[in-house]
Amino acid sequence: VPAAPHDASGERVPTRDLAALAPAARPARRWTPGRVVATPAALEHPHGQRIVDRVQALGIEVERLRSNRLVGVRGQTDRETYARAKATMAIVVSPPSRRALQPIAPSADWRVDLAEGCPAHCQYCYLAGSLSGPPVTRVYADLDDILAGLAAYAGRGTVTSRNARRADEGTTFEASCYTDPLALEHLTGSWRRAVQHFARWDAPVQLRWTTKYADVGTFVGLPHAGRTRVRFSVNCAPVSERFEGGTARVPDRLAALRRLALDGYPVGLTIAPIMPLPDWRERYGDLLDQVRAAVDGVPEVDLTAELITHRFTPGSKEVLLGWYPHTRLEMDEESRSRKHGKFGAVKYVYPRDTMAELRGWFTAELAARVPACRILYWT
Ligand code: SF4
Repeated sequence: VPAAPHDASGERVPTRDLAALAPAARPARRWTPGRVVATPAALEHPHGQRIVDRVQALGIEVERLRSNRLVGVRGQTDRETYARAKATMAIVVSPPSRRALQPIAPSADWRVDLAEGCPAHCQYCYLAGSLSGPPVTRVYADLDDILAGLAAYAGRGTVTSRNARRADEGTTFEASCYTDPLALEHLTGSWRRAVQHFARWDAPVQLRWTTKYADVGTFVGLPHAGRTRVRFSVNCAPVSERFEGGTARVPDRLAALRRLALDGYPVGLTIAPIMPLPDWRERYGDLLDQVRAAVDGVPEVDLTAELITHRFTPGSKEVLLGWYPHTRLEMDEESRSRKHGKFGAVKYVYPRDTMAELRGWFTAELAARVPACRILYWT
C-alpha cells in the first residue's frame, strides 16, 4: 500500500489533499536574447533558416555575420564578457568533433548536442570548466544532418542497454549535456523536431534530456511514441531559490512534468545537485511531497529519478568564482573527499559517511513518498 505523503511538518497528509499540493501550470518563463547572430554557414542549412524565421517572428532582429567567426562578445572586464556572452545567441554549424558521439555514463549510451550554452545563471553550473571561452549560447543549424547521423549508433549501447533494469529503453541519446533544451526550444524548434524524429525511428531508441525550464506547451499533443523521456532538474527550495538564477520555479517545472506525463511521455526527475544543508531532510522531504502531488492521479506514470550530489573540480571552482564572485555556494576542499575521474582529473565530493546518509535517506523516502518512481542511479 503506497504511503501517504508528508506535509512540511513531517506529518502524513491524507491522499485526498494532494490536489491542494499539486502544482498549477502558469505561463512559461521565456528567454529573450539581447543579441542574435547567424553565421553564413548556418544560413546554408534549412534549419538555420527556420531558426532565423522563428526568431524574427518573435520580433528579435538577427544580425548576419560576415564570417563564420563569432566576434564582439568580449568586454572590458570578465564580468562584462560574461554578461554579454550570456545575452547572446549564435546560430552556427556544429563543430565536426561533435558529430562523433561520445558515451555519456551513467545517463545514456550516447551524447548528442543540438546546442551548447544556456541562458540561466546557476551558481553551480555544470558547464563551468567543461566549455571554454565566453559562455555564448550556440544553437546548431545542421540539425537535420545531426539527427540523420544518429542512425549509425542505434543498437550500439554503451550504458543503458547493458543495464538489465534499463534494457527496455533501447539505445539512449542524451540531448542536454551542454545546454538546457526547454530554455531554447521557443527560439529553435530543434528538440520538437528531435522528438518527432525519434517517434518515427524504426528501432528501439530513446531521446532524453533534462531541464530547469517549464515551457512544454509545444510538446503536448506531439506524436512522441513514448520515445522521449523528459526529466526535470529539481532541488529543495533553499538551493533552487538561492543558486538557480534565470530558471523556471520548481513548482512550474513540476507542473510541466505533470502535463507531459498526462500526455503519455515517460518523465523523470534529476535531483541535483543534492546538498546536505543543515535541515536537508525537511527540505528535500518537502520537495518529494511536491513531486508526489505532481504525479498524483496520472495513469500508469513512467517516472524515474537520477540522484546527483554536488561536486566540483579545481577548474570549475575557478570559473564559477569568476562568474559569481559573491556566491554562497560551499566549495571547500577541506570538507570534501578527493576523487579521481576516468581520465585522472580530481573532483571534490562529499565524504563517504555523508554520501551514505544521503543515499540511504533518498532511497527510503522516494520509495515511501513517491512509490511509482524508479531510481536509475546515484552518484
Ligand atoms: Fe548551467 Fe543547467 Fe543552470 Fe543552465 S540550467 S546555467 S546549464 S546548471
